[in-house]
Amino acid sequence: MISIPECTLCGKVVDRLFLAEVEGSEIEVCEECGKFGKVVKEIRPRKEKENKFIVKKEVVELEESEEELKPNYGDLIIRARQKSGLERKEFAMEINEKESIIRRLELQQMVPNDKLKKKIEDFLDIKLTEVYKKKKIQSRPAKGTLTLGDIIEIK
Ligand SMILES: [Zn+2]
Repeated sequence: MISIPECTLCGKVVDRLFLAEVEGSEIEVCEECGKFGKVVKEIRPRKEKENKFIVKKEVVELEESEEELKPNYGDLIIRARQKSGLERKEFAMEINEKESIIRRLELQQMVPNDKLKKKIEDFLDIKLTEVYKKKKIQSRPAKGTLTLGDIIEIK
């Protein structure tokens, strides 16, 4: 049973509860209401137990690297292609693609899929992507906070 430290008389949720004799019966009350009767003893707060159910979070800084297309990948293709002395049509034939695809890539109206990107990179000996390192702050449950023993205690 998970007990919420709540005063039987006023209903206030408090840190400290007292067992008090009020009008002949023993009830759990807050310090304030305890004055109406005779305080028998302080009820030990069950804080210690409850804390076990709070999953602690730890903040972790992760470094993530991500490959992204360079912002000027179209220009890079055009320049490399022209350096190779190839017309767009010739280049398209060389890598077995449609000229319209190459045009759209060069105008950056299209993003190449991995296969196409690799084909272009290999043929023109260029790199169309850049690796970005990103720092990410993440909070995740601290390791080992919740053990099997804690779970069993929830009834
Ligand atoms: Zn009270």
